Amino acid sequence: MNIPIKTWRFHGGVHPADGKALSNSVPAQRAPLLERYTVAIQQNIGAPPKPVVAKGDTVKKGQLIAEPGGFVSAPVHAPTSGTVGDIVEVPGANGGAIPAIEIISDGKDEWGSGLDPIPNWKNTDREILKKRIADAGIVGMGGAAFPTHVKLSPPPEKVIDTLVLNGAECEPYLTADHRLMLERTEAVLEGAAIAAKILRVDRVFLGIEENKPDAIAALNEKAKDYGVTIVPLHVRYPQGGEKQLIYALTGRSVATGGLPMDVGCVVQNVGSCAAIRDAVVEGHPLIERYTTVTGTPVANPGTWILRLGTTVEQALTFAGGVKARTAKVIMGGPMMGFTQTSLGVTVTKNSSGILLLQWQETAEYTSNPCIRCGRCVRACPMKLLPGPVSVMVESENYDEAEKNYVMDCMECGVCTYVCPAKRPLVQHFRRAKAEINAKRRAAKAKQA
Ligand code: SF4
Ligand code: SF4
Repeated sequence: MNIPIKTWRFHGGVHPADGKALSNSVPAQRAPLLERYTVAIQQNIGAPPKPVVAKGDTVKKGQLIAEPGGFVSAPVHAPTSGTVGDIVEVPGANGGAIPAIEIISDGKDEWGSGLDPIPNWKNTDREILKKRIADAGIVGMGGAAFPTHVKLSPPPEKVIDTLVLNGAECEPYLTADHRLMLERTEAVLEGAAIAAKILRVDRVFLGIEENKPDAIAALNEKAKDYGVTIVPLHVRYPQGGEKQLIYALTGRSVATGGLPMDVGCVVQNVGSCAAIRDAVVEGHPLIERYTTVTGTPVANPGTWILRLGTTVEQALTFAGGVKARTAKVIMGGPMMGFTQTSLGVTVTKNSSGILLLQWQETAEYTSNPCIRCGRCVRACPMKLLPGPVSVMVESENYDEAEKNYVMDCMECGVCTYVCPAKRPLVQHFRRAKAEINAKRRAAKAKQA
C-alpha cells in the first residue's frame, strides 16, 4: 500500500493545454545508425571541454573525444565507432554557431569506452562512483545541463538530507521523461539509489505529475526495492522548476540567490538518473537520450532514442517528416524552449524535445503597453513583478531590474503566457540577465 505523503502548493503557475496526447502513448523508438554525427563540444553549463582527437583518428563508440575544461565541465564521447572528421560549426540551440566534432560512422557501432562496468556499486567507494559519473559526461538532462558530479559534491558545511528526483515533466508536449520512467523504470530507480549512496541520504522523493498514471504505477511497483518514495503531484506548470519541486515535496523554500543545497536538497532529473545507472553498471558514457519529436505538423509524433550529434532534420525524418505547414521549430517545449532558425541544430545532452507548431497554432500579434492588470504578478511562481520589471528593462535600467530580483527569474514563460497585452516579458528578462551577467563578468575580470 502506498501511503500518500504531504505535499505543498507553490505560488502562481498556469495550466496550459499540454499536447502530450500526441506522443505519450507511443513507445520510444531507437533511431537508426547515421553515417555522420556532428557532436557539439560544449554540452554543459560551465567550462568548455577540449577536444582530444584529431582529424583521421579512429574511435570506438563511447570513446572520449573532448575532455573536461575544469571541475564544472563534462567530457564528450563518440556516439558510434568510426573516424574523426573536421571540427565544424553547427547552429547552437540558443542561437549563434558552436563548434562540433564530426564522427564518420564505420557502420560497426563497436563499443570501446574504456570504462569498466561496476555492477557491485553497493560495495564500491563513493568517490569512485562520483568519478565514474564525471568520466561518463553526465549532466542535468532536464534542460540545465549542469554537470551531475558537481551537484553530487556539495561542500562539507552543507548538510544534505533529501534527494529530489524530477519526474514532473510539466512542460507541455514533452513526454520523453514519461516514456523513460515507464520503459526504463528500474534504470531510473537504480541511478537514484546510486546518487543517494554518494550523497549519504536515505530520503529520496520522486516527484511526478498525476497525468502519468501508467508511469506512477510502474514506479510504485519497484520503488521500495531502491528506497525511493514516489510522490504524485498536481498538474501545474512549472511544477518541475527546481525550487517549485523542492517546495512541493518538502515545504522548504530556497531563498533568493540560494541553491537547493541551502535547504538540504539535491535535485536530479530522472534522465540523469538512468544515465548514472548506465555509466556505473554498464560502463556506458552519455551518448544518447530520450527526446520527444512532436507537434501537429509531425507525421508520427513520438519519443526517439537519439544519439548526440543527430540533427533536427534527421530526427524529423525518423518521425516520418512534416505533413503540415509549420510556423515554428522549437528545441524544448513551448514555454521554455528556443525557436530555431535552422534544421541543422543538433541533439545535445539536454535536448528533451523537438516541437513543431503548425501555422494556425501561432497567432500573429503585436505587443501593447502594460494595462496593469496584475495577472503576471499573480501567476509568477518566483513571486516577482514581471510587468514593472519589464518596463525597467525596456528603458535599459538594468540596475533597477536587478534590485527587483530579475536574476531570480527562472524564464518559465508563465508571465508571457498570461499577459493580455502580449508583452514579450520573458524575452525582456533573458536580455536583462545576459546584460547583468556580462557586467558581473567584466567587474570580476577587472578585479583579477
Ligand atoms: S518568466 Fe520569470 S518573471 Fe515571468 S513568470 Fe517566470 S519566473 Fe516569473
Ligand atoms: S500581465 Fe501584462 S498587462 Fe497585465 S500587468 Fe503584467 S505586463 Fe501588464
